[in-house]
Amino acid sequence: MTSLLAKSLERIKPSATIAVSDTARRLKAAGKDVIGLGAGEPDFDTPEHIKQAAFAAMQAGKTKYTAVGGIDELKQAICDKFARENRLAYQPEQILVSPGAKAIVYNAMMASLNPGDEVIVLAPYWVSYPDIVRLAGGTPVFVEAGYEQGFRATAAALARALTPRTKWLILNSPSNPTGAAYDRDALAALLAPLQAHPQVHVLSDEIYEHLVYDNFVSTSAAAACPDLLARTLTVNGVSKAFAMTGWRIGYGGGPAELIRAMAKVQSQSTSNPTSISQWAAVAALTGTKAYLADWQKSFQARRDLVVAGLNAAEGLRCTTPAGAFYAYPSCAGLMGKTSAGGKKLTDDVVLAQALLEEAGVAIVPGTAFGLSPYFRLSYATSEALLRDALKRISAFCASCR
Ligand code: PLP
Repeated sequence: MTSLLAKSLERIKPSATIAVSDTARRLKAAGKDVIGLGAGEPDFDTPEHIKQAAFAAMQAGKTKYTAVGGIDELKQAICDKFARENRLAYQPEQILVSPGAKAIVYNAMMASLNPGDEVIVLAPYWVSYPDIVRLAGGTPVFVEAGYEQGFRATAAALARALTPRTKWLILNSPSNPTGAAYDRDALAALLAPLQAHPQVHVLSDEIYEHLVYDNFVSTSAAAACPDLLARTLTVNGVSKAFAMTGWRIGYGGGPAELIRAMAKVQSQSTSNPTSISQWAAVAALTGTKAYLADWQKSFQARRDLVVAGLNAAEGLRCTTPAGAFYAYPSCAGLMGKTSAGGKKLTDDVVLAQALLEEAGVAIVPGTAFGLSPYFRLSYATSEALLRDALKRISAFCASCR
């Protein structure tokens, strides 16, 4: 019998981070004592003024279809944000609003890739990049940078991966899953090889730009390399810096021709993002960000706690992330050992299972992010829970033989 399911689905996996959250939720619902450090969302609530803007929009009847690519007011707010915060000059026709930054990446790949096109993805990477590329018919090409390099790719490694078939470089700074970030000079150095490859575009995912620590200054790729502006898609959204993951608003700024093509994809898939969320996003982008300093302080304290705790655990080594809310420790020191529960730790997937079952801590194995043996731990949760989790991780590591 012929299968109902599309061949293209065989090229992709369901999101591993969502899978871990689901397992942890299921175990918790069954009464197991599980600390979930798998999720990629802030534990803070959406600021009140943003919620009020959503109520006001509903009450004013702004509950109908909108223009496919977003309301004019939001596009203008996005242009103003790019000019003010990123020194990027975009016009409204260069902006697309989608149901999340993930949808911006998806629309961009669907709108631009042909079979055989290559997309360079820096590993470790956000789980969705390679699978979106594959779903759109392209081929991901990986450039790796591990613990020793502070998870930052070099220009030389990028230059080696570039071919005449390369269509995109996907860049994510600060990074999910490592928190590593490129400052202005590092961006200029990394992107220098693109000068010799005028067909290559840059997708710069800057969704964690405001979640940075120790006075790190985020710079947009196209601001660090102004001559790449005409071939850069700058991706951002309200999910992380405004704690609005459930509202589903992401946006991109780029060449008008690409943005029109992406809007065409959106017009035959999701249509416009939720009208009410769009009005909430206008309030987010134009309103106060006074709360952000507190969030940053809180995240930085948690980061310091987590990095110190992980480095004190036997067999783990962890860099200090410059941004986002993840740590990505190497667990090479545990590989080959056996856990107290009798699991032979052959790779980071087995380690993640053992940590969940024996210590009740849910993390995501590095395999999901394209660089092993590591795991990703999200510190977007309370210090009390983090302390408990670190105690459990440390005891687990000490008991491995
Ligand atoms: N880009 C990166 C690097 C992310 O980590 C995430 C979410 O985890 C997204 C994009 C997706 O954001 P959104 O919720 O806006 O789809």
